[in-house]
Amino acid sequence: MKIAAPKQILNYIGGEFCDPEKGQFMDNVNPATGEVYSQTPDSDEEDVQLAVDAAQKAFPAWSTATPEFRFKILNRIAELIETNLDDFALAETNDNGKPLWLSKKVDIPRASDNFRFFATGLMHFASESHSMQDKAINYTLRSPIGVVGCISPWNLPLYLFTWKIAPALAAGNCVVAKPSEVTPMTAYLLCEIAQQAGLPAGVLNIVHGGGPRCGSAIVAHPGIKAISFTGSTRAGKDIAATAAPMFKKLSLELGGKNPNIIFADCDWEKMMRTTLQSSFANQGQICLCGSRILVEESIYEKFKSEFVEKVRALHPGDPLEPTSKQGAIVSKLHFDKVLGCIALAREEGGTILLGGKAVEPEGRCANGYFIEPTIIEGLGPDSRTNMEEIFGPVVTLQSFKTEEEALRLANASDYGLAATIWTENVTRAHRVAAMVHSGIIWVNCWLLRDLRTPFGGFKNSGVGREGGWEALRFFTEPKNVCIEL
Ligand code: NAD
Repeated sequence: MKIAAPKQILNYIGGEFCDPEKGQFMDNVNPATGEVYSQTPDSDEEDVQLAVDAAQKAFPAWSTATPEFRFKILNRIAELIETNLDDFALAETNDNGKPLWLSKKVDIPRASDNFRFFATGLMHFASESHSMQDKAINYTLRSPIGVVGCISPWNLPLYLFTWKIAPALAAGNCVVAKPSEVTPMTAYLLCEIAQQAGLPAGVLNIVHGGGPRCGSAIVAHPGIKAISFTGSTRAGKDIAATAAPMFKKLSLELGGKNPNIIFADCDWEKMMRTTLQSSFANQGQICLCGSRILVEESIYEKFKSEFVEKVRALHPGDPLEPTSKQGAIVSKLHFDKVLGCIALAREEGGTILLGGKAVEPEGRCANGYFIEPTIIEGLGPDSRTNMEEIFGPVVTLQSFKTEEEALRLANASDYGLAATIWTENVTRAHRVAAMVHSGIIWVNCWLLRDLRTPFGGFKNSGVGREGGWEALRFFTEPKNVCIEL
């Protein structure tokens, strides 16, 4: 059965599509055109309560179902996402503004991969045993937690939503989830797929709405035992303040201000090609983008002139056109924020080497939210531009003389999500990788992802890790059993 983006998105609770209890909806805007093209529920704690009731009802059967049963359904969801790739990709692009080719190549295939990865993972998940020779044996039971909450952002909508939901379901939990209110469409379509795949009613419940009303109701609900959140550090702080005194399990994947450290001995062509992507992919709206580019002094001028010329070719345009390298910024609110950050960089004394302005395309996208890829130099590590997350198509350049200085600049941030290092010197690569305060380090590559590896940040970039066994461990409660022999 085909899926289609509706004019009115609905909540999905207990296996049924339903209006929010108070009947309130919000506008859903296509950021490439500025048009309201659908309505999304503005749910509150009443809707969250219904979702928790449905999830609690479904939990006994789902949590005790065989791994084979859960595998079949989750794997079927992966297959159905693939079958409907074109419809999902178009919905993602219309909601988010990213180029359609990117939704097709990255976002939707990865959402399907997430389900397949954890569907197969659950068949291999095992717990530990600790023998005390002839005295005793310990073994660890890992049980599903119960009802868990998953809250995700707008930048990689279905990709990040499924990165949480798939392991939560695989581990045997029932889920109350909320996608970003800015990009709700593919989460709605996922419910249609879940129904088609035979996921039992109440196992996955999706409640749409804003952060302060709907998201915070999920976080505060006493029946929800764990929260997996990806989003801003600001919201993460509020969530921790509510959830920590309730002793909920918490996984927080937050903001970043990632350094991209380029040494003179790098593979120049590969570095340049990849740095274009790591700076501006998805309009710079990826938490892993390298927004602070640190370049060794001896190659700084060469890097600057070549980089500026290459970025000039990344002109934003209609996301539906295969030739558009950049799409729209996700919303008017975020568009204003990014332009505000560029204005601040100017006030701080930064030089705008390229970009710095809104783009006004002709035709269909005349009222869309587009910003030129922007390169700034002349600001030190203590400037707000280099300290605060912008999360848009904006990078800064700084030069360094020595490895020590590179490390000082790289670590001069309250964030610690990811870093990229470019050098052909293997010893230096290991040394610098060990010294950068980030949860994820890429050497001579960027965004090369193995879903088994731990994913998450140091410092203000979050708490906990996602991916592989880390995620399945997060979504289970360990219990040690000791038997004296
Ligand atoms: P956001 O924090 O505004 O919103 C994220 C989600 O949380 C949305 O669904 C929102 O409705 C909800 N929310 C907001 N306030 C809430 C509250 N008080 N209680 C409960 N829920 C609440 O973030 P955003 O603007 O959607 O996304 C951009 C941010 O996400 C950036 O900071 C980016 O770095 C971060 N991000 C991090 C990762 C990562 O893996 N570390 C990945 C992607 C995005």
